[in-house]
Amino acid sequence: MPILPGYPWRVPIRMCVGCRATGEQSELVRVARTASGFEVGRTAPGRGAWLHPGCGAQALKRRAIPRALRSDSGDPAQLAAVVVEVDALAPTWANQGSLH
Ligand SMILES: [Zn+2]
Repeated sequence: MPILPGYPWRVPIRMCVGCRATGEQSELVRVARTASGFEVGRTAPGRGAWLHPGCGAQALKRRAIPRALRSDSGDPAQLAAVVVEVDALAPTWANQGSLH
């Protein structure tokens, strides 16, 4: 991970697979591929893709989530559902004033 100006090195930085901007880990939501589908959460096991709340639709269009997870896209309906779940977080997160 390159060192980015403006961020203290201690802050974990992740890249959003939707808009490809980087942000502090606390601003992004993690989507993991599980045996049964997809799961939103930092504690979900396995490889994760990070997204801003609100960037889910963009990621879906770019097929970025399966690519980030290095998996097949699974059930497209499940993927679409998890993206809706991510984007539904946007108002709450925006209200915290830390998004973007
Ligand atoms: Zn984004």
